[in-house]
Amino acid sequence: MGLITLALFMFFTCSYAERNGPIQTFVIPHSHMDVGWVYTIQESMHAYAGNVYTSVTEELTRNKQRKFIAVEQEFFRLWWDSVATDKHRQQVRQLLKEGRLEFIIGGQVMQDEAVTDLDDDILQLTEGHGFLYETFGVRPRFSWHVDPFGASATTPVLFALAGFHAHLISRIDYDLKDDMQENRKLQFVWRGSPSLREQQEIFTHTMDQFSYCTPSNLPFSNSSGFYWNGVAVFPDPPKNGVYPNMSLPVTKETLRPYAETMVRNIQQRAAWFRTNHVLWPWGCDKQFYNSSVQFANMDPLVNYINQNSKEFGVTVQYATLSEYFQAVHQTNLTWECVNDHTMETHRKPFQAWTGFFTSRNVLKGVARKASSKLKAAETLFTQYRVSYPDGPVPKEEALQKLKALRWAVSEVQHHDGITGTESPKVANMYMEHLTQAMMGVDELLAALFILPQGLDTVGDSDASGQNSIPMVYRVGIDLEQHIVVYNPLAWNTTAVINVTVTFPMATVFDDQGQPVPAQIQGSAESNTTYDLFIVVDLGGLQHRKYLVRFSEKPCEEGPECGLTHQAWVVPFERQNVSKWLKTGRRLLPVLNECYKIKLDQDTNLLHSITDRQAMRTVTVSQDFWEYQVNGDVSAGPISDNYVFSANSSAVRAYKAIGLEIVPGKVITEIRQYFYREETDEVYSFSVTTRVPQGFPRGRPLCHRLEQSYSLGPLAVNTEVVLRTRTGLKNNRTLFTDDNGYQMMKRPYRPFVDNIIARNYYPMVRTAYIEDDSSRLVLLSERAHGVSSQAEGELEVMLHRRLWNNQLWNLGYNLTLNDSSVVRPSLWMTLGSLAATPSLHQREALELQHRPVVMPIDRPQHGMGAPLRPVVLPDNLHLLTLCVPGWAYSSNHTLHLRSIGKRDTGTTQPDYNRVLMRIMHLYETGVDPVLSQPVTINIKEVLQSVGEVRVLEERSLTGTWDISDLRRWEWKTSERGQRSSVGTGGDFNVTILPKEIRTFFVSFKLK
Ligand SMILES: [Zn+2]
Repeated sequence: MGLITLALFMFFTCSYAERNGPIQTFVIPHSHMDVGWVYTIQESMHAYAGNVYTSVTEELTRNKQRKFIAVEQEFFRLWWDSVATDKHRQQVRQLLKEGRLEFIIGGQVMQDEAVTDLDDDILQLTEGHGFLYETFGVRPRFSWHVDPFGASATTPVLFALAGFHAHLISRIDYDLKDDMQENRKLQFVWRGSPSLREQQEIFTHTMDQFSYCTPSNLPFSNSSGFYWNGVAVFPDPPKNGVYPNMSLPVTKETLRPYAETMVRNIQQRAAWFRTNHVLWPWGCDKQFYNSSVQFANMDPLVNYINQNSKEFGVTVQYATLSEYFQAVHQTNLTWECVNDHTMETHRKPFQAWTGFFTSRNVLKGVARKASSKLKAAETLFTQYRVSYPDGPVPKEEALQKLKALRWAVSEVQHHDGITGTESPKVANMYMEHLTQAMMGVDELLAALFILPQGLDTVGDSDASGQNSIPMVYRVGIDLEQHIVVYNPLAWNTTAVINVTVTFPMATVFDDQGQPVPAQIQGSAESNTTYDLFIVVDLGGLQHRKYLVRFSEKPCEEGPECGLTHQAWVVPFERQNVSKWLKTGRRLLPVLNECYKIKLDQDTNLLHSITDRQAMRTVTVSQDFWEYQVNGDVSAGPISDNYVFSANSSAVRAYKAIGLEIVPGKVITEIRQYFYREETDEVYSFSVTTRVPQGFPRGRPLCHRLEQSYSLGPLAVNTEVVLRTRTGLKNNRTLFTDDNGYQMMKRPYRPFVDNIIARNYYPMVRTAYIEDDSSRLVLLSERAHGVSSQAEGELEVMLHRRLWNNQLWNLGYNLTLNDSSVVRPSLWMTLGSLAATPSLHQREALELQHRPVVMPIDRPQHGMGAPLRPVVLPDNLHLLTLCVPGWAYSSNHTLHLRSIGKRDTGTTQPDYNRVLMRIMHLYETGVDPVLSQPVTINIKEVLQSVGEVRVLEERSLTGTWDISDLRRWEWKTSERGQRSSVGTGGDFNVTILPKEIRTFFVSFKLK
């Protein structure tokens, strides 16, 4: 999105007298093309996006001076595959060769930076890079992150790992930008990771106050400025080529005023930078669909300024982004380092862009769920390919299904996608693409577990991502069901999976016929179904089969009950808030190996948690509060899908609480129901807390309090938060993660205005508060906004429903009147400062990548006995194991030669090349053992997948042989030396704290 805050075109003369020679201006033609936002992808392709590439290709071919940068790959690929003629394709190849068309970033989309997860950021970049490299042999080296709402410190690290020379950002805190502009500090070298520091630093350019759009509101013209092609029209482009708001053409009369205006703007901007070079982005949202008009007006302007460059003190040239950065790099100046690894989100006193951390929570949840399903299927398919290269699952079909989900998960990472800032029809479009592709991958998973055709495998239908599958099959007469459970993580795990069944009793057996601990109880959601909890022990990347035998009769005790415990609901008296005169008199304990949890029967709220290992009791209560926000623009600041504006403190969102406890041997479930009114029959919010039982201390499971919530539909203009209030003295300081990669300290800041909203931060996987001895951690399977508004408090915004009368919002249908029911989950852990760091990194991954549960028909054709597990050291994570299916040689010279030879590119995917990424989960200095560099032998680690024959280290997205990467060095004020990397050829690899290393692996096929 753009054009919300049109930079006012101001005139003033600035001092540039100290500069040598004229200012060199790099006019960079571009079109910001949102992959979503207001219009669907199809609508955008039809109305303008297809025409951008058609007309730009033709116009650049016409005139050798002209250039263009192409950013979002999704639109380009759609054009390349379905619109471009053979002639266009030839022209594109020629323009790339001449360096006049340049791919920048190269990801499928321009991803959001606040609410996206590391896995998906890497995926979408890899998806675009794979296409560009395979098709053109091109590898982008510069970023253009002009529109994401804030700049995460993880992004520069990922771009450095992908081999980028320089990064470009724009939307940061206004005050910060003003300050940087004034002090000519818009450019710096960013060390985004405190552990990797100079190893993965990157030169970063912050756009000045004009951002990525050309200045508008020219005084001599009532049109829009340098946008001669006007404004795109939906749904159909006008047949006569006349668009609204086309700027005054450049003629004899207007040439001079246009030139003067442009020169003044260039001079103004030059004063904000240290070098003589000005980056002048020419374009904005949805531009260049009619680029003949654009260039026909700009060409004479460029020529005129150059003819009069002495008078103006300015030269102007069409340029690509690499030319600009090349010029800056060649100055060889020394740049300041930014080690402080945070660049604030887009904030203004009354416009805090912190609402989108939570907007469209269902979409955020489904996107993450799709991502973890993709990871499981990729890993499983890789194992299958290596073990059964000629197996019955057709590889072409498998790859096609994986590709569809890669595409859908990549697409929704767009900065107006997963952010929830899009119109309802676009949100529906993402959702449809995700669910369709997930269904395809479910079919693939079923096939990989070797299922007969036609079995109705039902994925979990609620958006909460629970491991719950409605299992209603009656197989034969003996009421049996086989299930396969797969662990997509490369470490051993014990997990409790939850299966919804329609029988009151079920016994469970493992693949050896041994009974398995389980628990069955009436479901909280329905009177006719039961929750069956099964304890599964799985090795890394291992799947196991289980047999569930159902019975119509409850079973109290005895061998026929197997190891299944039947649990019963114990209801408690409902408590009204108005009666809370005396509380804390009747405390009800729930115990497990790790905790003593107390519930207050006077309130039905949580009262305290005792960490039994540290022998410390912390008061903890949780309930729902809501911000009642304004939707009338004439009455003050409003909340919308981007912005959170709390006019006043949150109010309690309920008047009564019901409580049920289901004591069990596998888990004890605490169910709390929050009623808006005392007399309400139906609750408005609920919390289900699952306390693991029977797991000894030391296994992470007993620390893990699994909570799931239900909320909605909300009242209009309310934003509901879950408040966890504790006795921890955290000084309102909060820690939240940046894209699941690294933790950020977020001290409470005493703003004068809008203080609540401006102290909100994104949580992608983790948020915690702590004092001198304890830490309370919340882990999440989707993004939320979080804050610590009071001492000891951690509040998580779970849902928002808004409507406002701002014309712009109404016009684009962006008010966020989201009436859905959301069912997010959080895992809560309380522990000592020493114990929790070693837990939460792995726990967050266990939440994100829960075991995959699949019902199967007949077990005897399965993949055989469980393979030996794949287990990495405790501080490493197998981030990726997949068969990308790219059709290129990993030798760059050979690849270019083969592109030169083939026509429009019909190549066979390589099914035998495996892409693998390994990540170190810990920062330097966090844990005495886990924070150490670790050396592994890849051949040994992967031996149960297959015999590794060749290992090649690659850049993050796979396109570079790491030894050819040679990223530009930028001189910095702080010393630092990048060490050289690469594998020694002996399969031994050392991974440093927070490092992500990427490899191509060739296995010997079995
Ligand atoms: Zn945008």
